[in-house]
Amino acid sequence: MIFQGRGAVITGGGRGIGAAVAHELAENGAKVVVSARSMNEIEAVAQELTAVGHIAHAIKCDVADENSVAMMAKEAAVLLDTVDILVNNAGIARSNPVKRLSLEEWSQIMAVNATGTFLCSKAFLPGMLERRWGRVINVASVAGLRGSSYIAAYTASKHAQVGFTRALAAEVAEQGITVNAICPGYVDTPMTEYSIAHIVEKTGVSPEEALGHILALSKQNRLIRPEEVANLTLMLCGDDAKGINGQAIAIDGG
Ligand code: NDP
Repeated sequence: MIFQGRGAVITGGGRGIGAAVAHELAENGAKVVVSARSMNEIEAVAQELTAVGHIAHAIKCDVADENSVAMMAKEAAVLLDTVDILVNNAGIARSNPVKRLSLEEWSQIMAVNATGTFLCSKAFLPGMLERRWGRVINVASVAGLRGSSYIAAYTASKHAQVGFTRALAAEVAEQGITVNAICPGYVDTPMTEYSIAHIVEKTGVSPEEALGHILALSKQNRLIRPEEVANLTLMLCGDDAKGINGQAIAIDGG
């Protein structure tokens, strides 16, 4: 129960990686808030956790909306007493060649993945600074470390998330707070199911062929499990990880 007494907010906590992170943190003693736009999903995760004796709440929030983030932060502070851990995991992915990428799609992806990370960090930072302890984990992507075709907006948003991680880490390094990014390769979540469906729709290949195309990008020829990302998050949140700051750690099989 290494996080007993700690409060944690996980954005995008209704499914996939965020739900796995919420389970891992709660199972290790943290009180958690799971947040996203779909109330049914976050309520289901919070109920699963409370049913086995953990403290968990669901708060609806759109991370791209400053007012929504401010309201979520206010409510989370009341429910958890303190928010010591913030996992900026909410994200969306779309693919399109740049010549067909609309300004609307670009802006939407940047607003959720990059601006959402900034808004949530800004909202929870004052409490962490006051208590001189905090952990901010930004779930970025290997797309935040390199470029690949047809995902320019996603890649730019994830590079922004990694850049923000490094800058904020430098800013708060002397104040007991660490800020790190996790950069997964393809993970076995609904987002990857969506990507497979998109490849099938755009190219006419079978779902198995689309999955094969994705697996070929992994040196281990497999999808990362959400629990692997959750375990790395847990490690970075611990007191023993206080020397790890401003890093962007790939978890993609090498
Ligand atoms: P999922 O699509 O499975 O889940 C995404 C979560 O984010 C959902 O809970 C969704 O809920 C929430 N979300 C989306 N938009 C918003 C918003 N505007 N405000 C609040 N919440 C939002 O994705 P994954 O679990 O796969 O991905 C989680 C993170 O990991 C993302 O940042 C993604 O970019 C990153 N990642 C994923 C990889 C993968 O292969 N799956 C690989 C590398 C990185 P709702 O729609 O209800 O709001």
